Amino acid sequence: MNTPYSITLHIHRFDPEAKRSWVQDHQLEVSGMLRFTDVLRKINQEQDPGLAWTSSCEHAQCGSCSAVINGKPLLLCELLVKDAIERFKTTTFVLKPLTIAPVLRDLIVDLPQAYERVHKAKPYIIEPTGPPVEGDELRIQPQVMERYVEATRCINCFCCAQACISSHKSFLGPNAMMANIVRLFDPKERSKDERLDILFAENGLARCHTARACSFVCPKDIDVAHFLALGKEGIL
Ligand code: SF4
Ligand code: SF4
Repeated sequence: MNTPYSITLHIHRFDPEAKRSWVQDHQLEVSGMLRFTDVLRKINQEQDPGLAWTSSCEHAQCGSCSAVINGKPLLLCELLVKDAIERFKTTTFVLKPLTIAPVLRDLIVDLPQAYERVHKAKPYIIEPTGPPVEGDELRIQPQVMERYVEATRCINCFCCAQACISSHKSFLGPNAMMANIVRLFDPKERSKDERLDILFAENGLARCHTARACSFVCPKDIDVAHFLALGKEGIL
């Protein structure tokens, strides 16, 4: 049964031109099957076209609709109203932008700035291993791939970085560290020493407390802390 719910949203807003922050309240009657991106769209259409937020794929694959709801970082496109009511045991929701980068407007944060930390971890192959034997593909054995394939599901939504309890400002963050660790596993990467230098730099793994907050919030169910622990234990 598609029960309509009466919900209240307290949305943290920011106007960069006026340099003004405030909390905007909205009351809505909505289907429990709406996702929070649908709810924000409904607010744009019926109550306030000026509310700014971002989304792209709306299939939990691009990581652009991350926000904090009732203290928990998550993807707005994944959360149904009925599930949110059950999960948080309330029909009142406080929506805030992530704090991993400056807020540009309302729920939109400066993602390019957040990505600078990931880029510092070089989430690409620095130096590929030599070309495969002529005519052959460079193949990765399934048992090798199995060791790190879970980490390749990361969509850089920054929910783990938001939840991270490391108080050290320079820490590159769990997703950045994991991006580096993926390439340490990757047999196509030759440049392992440079990767280890990044991992054990001042702003690297030493700043992780292994408290696992990152793993608890990952919308792709990646045990982020497990991969960081493998890096710490040097068993990559
Ligand atoms: S590890 Fe999970 S929570 Fe962290 S950025 Fe990747 S998908 Fe998001
Ligand atoms: S385990 Fe490390 S990376 Fe994950 S939340 Fe804790 S301090 Fe942050």
